[in-house]
Amino acid sequence: MDQVECVVIGAGVVGLAVARALALAGREVLVLEAASAIGTGTSSRNSEVIHAGIYYAAGSLKARLCVQGKAMLYDYCAERGIGHRRCGKLLVATAPAQLAQLQDVIDKARRNGVDDLVLLSAAQARALEPQLACEAAVYSPSTGIVDSHGLMLALQGDVENAGGIVVLNSPLAHAEYAQGAINLVANDGTQLQASTVLNAAGLQAPALAGRFKGLDPRHVPRAWFAKGNYFTLAGRAPFSHLIYPLPQAAGLGVHLTLDLGGQAKFGPDVQWVESPDDLVVDPARGDAFYAEVRKYWPSLADGALIPGYAGIRPKIHAPDQAACDFVIQGPADHGVPGLVNLFGIESPGLTSALAIGDYVRDLLADRSVAEL
Ligand SMILES: Cc1cc2nc3c(=O)[nH]c(=O)nc-3n(C[C@H](O)[C@H](O)[C@H](O)COP(=O)(O)OP(=O)(O)OC[C@H]3O[C@@H](n4cnc5c(N)ncnc54)[C@H](O)[C@@H]3O)c2cc1C
Repeated sequence: MDQVECVVIGAGVVGLAVARALALAGREVLVLEAASAIGTGTSSRNSEVIHAGIYYAAGSLKARLCVQGKAMLYDYCAERGIGHRRCGKLLVATAPAQLAQLQDVIDKARRNGVDDLVLLSAAQARALEPQLACEAAVYSPSTGIVDSHGLMLALQGDVENAGGIVVLNSPLAHAEYAQGAINLVANDGTQLQASTVLNAAGLQAPALAGRFKGLDPRHVPRAWFAKGNYFTLAGRAPFSHLIYPLPQAAGLGVHLTLDLGGQAKFGPDVQWVESPDDLVVDPARGDAFYAEVRKYWPSLADGALIPGYAGIRPKIHAPDQAACDFVIQGPADHGVPGLVNLFGIESPGLTSALAIGDYVRDLLADRSVAEL
């Protein structure tokens, strides 16, 4: 049986960032990806926003890794010539009852180390965005956008330059810990032995962990799927900043984001679905989008929204439960030497990816090599 030191399952932005961190630390790395290309999962079905780190509970992994990841990502994009823009965002209160929440957002962000938010009056916000309707707004100058595919190609390049290998069309079927190593079996029957396995399979991470013999099932969360649909805008948007309503229970609200070419899209909404493959956008959902968007952009024209694409949030909590933090379980958590599972890496996973990579590298370095 072939042997390799570290195997990363999944070549999304998180798997690639983890593989890069390990490869740069001198470890032998193989990435197994089920699809025929890198980054075809959630990593290519998101808003491509570099989040500031505003919304997350102080001290949570989401808060820490987002703020750290944002700084790393801006540096990495500049260094590697990856398309990005620090365009800033306006978080808007569209009803008087929401005004108090804006100050809460500023306070929460400050606890996360984000102290550059500015409270704007409606007039100040309209001076920045004349078509915007709001009672007041919070301006986040460090929010931006990134070319997620350019980012993933750069990560793959770093993995390969450091001696790592990314293998496509290679879905892992199951794995087992036995006699000090992890035995992996691909769908085509190919077997491989590794001392370290990183499960970065995104939406499939809980299902894959459930097929890991030797891992106590009580460490495997149930997967839930919260689809986010996008509608694109026909024509040019009259905005140069990202525009966000106040966050909702399972998502950040139907916001306006721009891509690097200036194309505007609205979304994602929240639609709990049974299957991680349920990616078709139902045009009928457009009615709710018009209503949401017109709260902050009243002159949105009828017929201007076109069904776009959808992504699915890899949730590990039920619709009626509070949102979870990222869950990154190492051997100290579940007792299986050499195994790291990454569960619930939803937003801000793209922003956090480089910091997640370092976090996982350090998690493994903290363990004694013998134990791994
Ligand atoms: C609607 C939406 C909007 C979002 N917007 C933002 C945003 O603006 N900013 C932000 O920071 N974050 C955002 N996110 C979050 C971000 O997109 C994710 O956190 C990130 O892409 C997760 O990357 P990943 O590598 O964990 O998962 P994925 O990209 O899903 O990659 C997992 C990979 O594993 C592979 N795989 C699965 N099973 C196997 C197997 N058995 N064997 C081998 N390979 C396997 C898959 O094919 C896939 O390529 C958003 C998410 C959603 C859903």
